Amino acid sequence: MTGAGPIVNLDRLSLRLFASFAGLILVIVAAVALWGEIRVRRFYAHEVERRLEVAAALLIERSESALAHAGPDPAFDAHLGQLGRLTRLRLTVIRDDGVVLADSESPLPIANHADRPEVRLALGGQPGTDQRRSSTTGQRTHYLALPVRSAGRVIGCVRASAPLDDMEGALAELRTSLVLVGALALGAGLLLAGLLARRLASPLENMAREAEALGEGDLARRVAPRGPVETRALARALNTMAARLQQRVESERTARGELEAILGGMAEGVVALDAAEQVLLMNAAAARLLGLEEPLAAGSPLWRVLRFPELERELRAVLARPEAGPGTPDVRSFDATPQGNGRTLAISIAPLSIEGLETRRGAVVLLSDVTTTRRLDQMRSDFVANVSHELRTPLTAIMGALEILAEPSTDEATEARFVEIAARNAARLKAIVNDLLDLSSLEAQSESLARAPLSTSAALRNAAAALAGAAQKKGVQLEVEAPRSSRADVLGDESRLEQCFTNLLANAIQYTPAGGRVTARARSLEDEVEVVVEDTGIGIPATALPRVFERFYRVDRGRGRDTGGTGLGLALVKHIALAHGGRVDVASEEGHGSVFTVRLPRRSEA
Ligand code: ADP
Repeated sequence: MTGAGPIVNLDRLSLRLFASFAGLILVIVAAVALWGEIRVRRFYAHEVERRLEVAAALLIERSESALAHAGPDPAFDAHLGQLGRLTRLRLTVIRDDGVVLADSESPLPIANHADRPEVRLALGGQPGTDQRRSSTTGQRTHYLALPVRSAGRVIGCVRASAPLDDMEGALAELRTSLVLVGALALGAGLLLAGLLARRLASPLENMAREAEALGEGDLARRVAPRGPVETRALARALNTMAARLQQRVESERTARGELEAILGGMAEGVVALDAAEQVLLMNAAAARLLGLEEPLAAGSPLWRVLRFPELERELRAVLARPEAGPGTPDVRSFDATPQGNGRTLAISIAPLSIEGLETRRGAVVLLSDVTTTRRLDQMRSDFVANVSHELRTPLTAIMGALEILAEPSTDEATEARFVEIAARNAARLKAIVNDLLDLSSLEAQSESLARAPLSTSAALRNAAAALAGAAQKKGVQLEVEAPRSSRADVLGDESRLEQCFTNLLANAIQYTPAGGRVTARARSLEDEVEVVVEDTGIGIPATALPRVFERFYRVDRGRGRDTGGTGLGLALVKHIALAHGGRVDVASEEGHGSVFTVRLPRRSEA
């Protein structure tokens, strides 16, 4: 039973029922008509025969004398006529040679009747019957002829006949009434059949419609329990099933929603793949880490949109492995960088087996961005290597000096020189260690930095004052452009800020040849305080600019160390600025000087 179809759909149950009922009624009516006609015909024929027999029998005795005396007998004729009228039959008396002696209806003479089949039989001594159209009256007629005997010899016969048209008339009447009654019965029957068919079929058809809607996913649909007890039970069963299904779908939707929310909220990327390397599931993080615009839909082949040879190779290896036994974690982990992405991903691939109707194999890929971790790891090991290297140089110098001093033959002048070398390198060691300690304490406790209202221009002036001697000695002109009023414009640690400015000024003086100029400026912006240290020195090459704030980074390794720098000065500057919620920038052109700019948040009251 399908919903839409032609208007008269013979597949419909109601129509089938109706058609069956109608057919049955038609057959019954036709059978009754046929049976009635046969019965009536037989009864009528029997009746006519009985009447013919009685009339012929009555006639035999009187006919004997009439047949014996040849010649007209008016009394007999009258008697025949009367009998004929009374019995409403045609009566004929026929001689043994076929000559008609008397007839109750037709005047004589009448043609010789010897050839009539019933007459022939009767003259042969048997009762004869026949049915035919009469040549005398022209009507369909039933004949009965009985022999008339005299002294054991057949001397003629009497014949009684009745027209059959009466019966046909009666039968036609019967048929008309049968047709009428049959039509009425048929009409009533069909009406009843229609109603019954509708009543039986409509709950079923309704149920089919609802079941179809349920099947199409509209699980909120319910069937009204109507019709006979069976269809009501069916409707209830259908409703229970729909409710269960709805519950199941609901809980599965919730579970899937939870899973999606969990996967969507994860920083790690998750990709589940089937054995054909088609995506079963991919979360947003995975798409981002793999450089895709959005997660691939379930069923899409992974490699159609992604080029990642390392992952492809490892994944194939995992998928190609025979199924691992339970409890044997068979995970492949490695670091890789997707093309054109520049990020380092830690990837682990575990085989997956999904139990269902059939067990499906696949793999789960877990991706996490370890770019920062790996860089930090690298920086840490670089740092350790750098520190060791930086410490080794002065230590070697001190040990060398001590060795010379330990020799008894060393003269006083040499002794004095090596003591000075040892002292200088010890001071350098101390400077490095102090800077390192400063850096690590700044990193460790930037929050617990002492914060007091202070004036940046005062701090800058102090730093410049401390370096004025060095600048003069080197022949560098040092200028400070900062307001004299020492209004407290930032919240911070005075000694740290002074250290920050001192480092910048010391660098500027150090990397500016004699005759150059160093300018330090402090000014207030809208919600920041800006300190600029500008020099006309050697400048920094563009390639080195992004790295100057790294620990132990020197543009020219030899040059920096010769001038006594630790390579930690700018790292400290940066950390002090950051610890105060500020930042530091550098602009420089090689050979034309550098500009370092420190910006700190302004105190709100200032
Ligand atoms: P150092 O103690 O060696 O000066 P810093 O961290 O202070 O180390 O500086 C890092 C490097 O940046 C220096 O080695 C130097 O090459 C470069 N540099 C810093 N300040 C200046 C400047 N004002 N002009 C030119 N180069 C500079």
